[in-house]
Amino acid sequence: MTENREPTFRESVDLMFNRAVSIMDLPPGLEEKIRVCNATYTVRFGVRLRGRIQTFTGYRSVHSEHMEPVKGGIRYALAVNQDEVEALAALMTYKCALVEAPFGGSKGGLCLDPSQYEEHELEQITRRFAYELAKRDLIDPSQNVPAPDMGTGEREMAWIADQYRRMNTSDINASGCVTGKPIHAGGIHGRVEATGRGVQYALQEFFRHPEDIEKAGLEGTLEGKRVIVQGLGNVGYHAAKFLSQEDGARIVAVVERDGALIDDMGLDVEAVRNWISAHHGVSGYADAKYVADGAKVLEMECDILIPAALEGVINVSNADAVQARLIIEAANGPITAGADEILRRKGVVIIPDLYANAGGVTVSYFEWVKNLSHIRFGRMQRRQEEARHQLLVNELERLDRYLGDSWSMTPHFKEKYLRGAGELELVRSGLDDTMRIAYQSMREVWHARDDVTDLRTAAYLVAIDRVALSYREKGL
Ligand code: NAD
Repeated sequence: MTENREPTFRESVDLMFNRAVSIMDLPPGLEEKIRVCNATYTVRFGVRLRGRIQTFTGYRSVHSEHMEPVKGGIRYALAVNQDEVEALAALMTYKCALVEAPFGGSKGGLCLDPSQYEEHELEQITRRFAYELAKRDLIDPSQNVPAPDMGTGEREMAWIADQYRRMNTSDINASGCVTGKPIHAGGIHGRVEATGRGVQYALQEFFRHPEDIEKAGLEGTLEGKRVIVQGLGNVGYHAAKFLSQEDGARIVAVVERDGALIDDMGLDVEAVRNWISAHHGVSGYADAKYVADGAKVLEMECDILIPAALEGVINVSNADAVQARLIIEAANGPITAGADEILRRKGVVIIPDLYANAGGVTVSYFEWVKNLSHIRFGRMQRRQEEARHQLLVNELERLDRYLGDSWSMTPHFKEKYLRGAGELELVRSGLDDTMRIAYQSMREVWHARDDVTDLRTAAYLVAIDRVALSYREKGL
C-alpha cells in the first residue's frame, strides 16, 4: 500500500483486524490463519439472453471454516470483485463469532446490474449461478448457506432454494440451503426487516448506557435525535422506519444515489420510500428540500449518521468534515481504515458493522434452525401459554368483581397478556436478546481495557478470541 492511497476494502478490514491482534496474545501463526481467506471460487458462465450468449462473472469466497456451515450473503452489483467479496466474507466470520451464530464466514457476488434485466432473465441467471455453486458444495445446508445482500432479496433466495432442491431431490434439509426466503418457500417471519431491526435494537442498547452516550457527547434517549440515513434500501428503510415510528427519532435527511432529501422536522420515511420505488430515486419528491450532491449531506450536522448503502463512503477525503457524534455502520465497511482513525481522533463513537448489521445473519440463523427442525417457532407452545395466562386472567377478573370500583385491570392488559407469542414475536425477542448481549460483550472490553479506545477494536477482540478458541479446541 503506498502512502497516499486509500486502502482497498479488504486491506481496510485487515488493518482493523491487525489493530486488534496487536494487543492480543495469540499463539504464533494463528493470527495469520484467522486473517487469511481460505478460498475464493470464481465462476464465469454463459446464459442465452435476447438472442445471444452473455457471460457473467461470479464469486463465492469462504473465509473461515472453524464452524460449518459457512454463511454470508450474495450481492448483485456491477462493482462486485474478488477483493470486495473476500472483505465481506472476513467480516462475516467476525460477525458470526460476535453474535454467537454457529457459522464460519463466507460471501458471494455476481457482477451485474439487476436493473438492466427482466425478471425472467434474472431468474435464468440466478438459477445458473446457483447451479454452478451448488455442484461444488458452495450452496449446501450443511456446508455453505447464502442469504440476501445488496441487489438480492427473497425472490432470488427462492430461486436458489428451488434450484438446489431440483439438484438434490432426496435432501430432506434442502430448504436450509439458503436463508432470506419468502415464508411460503420456508422463510421465517421477521427476516426481511431483520437487519434494520437489529440496527434499531443496537441503538436502543447503546442508549441504555449513560457512560456510552456521554462518550459520544450526546444525552438523553433516542427520542428527538436527528438522524441521517444513507441508502433507503432494505436495511436503511427498516432502520429509519422503526427509529422514527417507534423511538421518536427524527430522520432529517435521506441520501440516495441521485441526491438527498432534507427536512429538519423529520421526513415521512414511508412516503419517501414509496417515491423511490415509483421514480427510482429521490429527485422530484415535493415535501422536502432536494440536494443533488448527496455525499455532501453526510457532512451535515446531526446526532446519528447511519450509512446503510455501500462501502467506503466515509473515507480520508470527507471524514474530517463529518459532524455526526455517533455513527452506526448499517452497511458493511462504510468507513475506511483511514477515516476510522480520523473519526476516532475526533472522538466520534462508531458502532461497527460487524455488530451493527448482524441482525440479518442472526435471523438467518433462526431461519436455518427452523428449516432443519421442520417446524415453525411457537407452534408447540403458543396455545399452552395462552391457556396458562387465561387462568391468571380468570383469577384477576374474580378479584375485579370482588373489589368493585376500588380496583380494575389496566385497559388492554387482558388482550395483551392473553396473546401467546407467535413466530414474529419470538424472532424479535431472540434478535433483541442477541443484540443486547453482543453489545454488552463489546462494551465490557471497551471500558475494561485502557488499550481499547473504540467499539470496533473491542468487537474484533471479542470475535477473534472466539474464533481462536474454536481453532484451539478443535484443531486446524
Ligand atoms: P439494498 O440494495 O436493498 O439497498 C441499498 C440502497 O442503497 C438502495 O436504496 C440504493 O439505491 C442505495 N445506494 C446505492 N448506492 C448509493 C450511493 N452511492 N449513495 C447513496 N445511496 C446509494 O441493499 P441492502 O440489503 O439494504 O444492503 C445495504 C448494506 O447493508 C450493504 O452494505 C450490505 O452488505 C449491508 N447488509 C445487508 C444485509 C441484509 O440483510 N440485506 C445484512 C447485513 C448487511
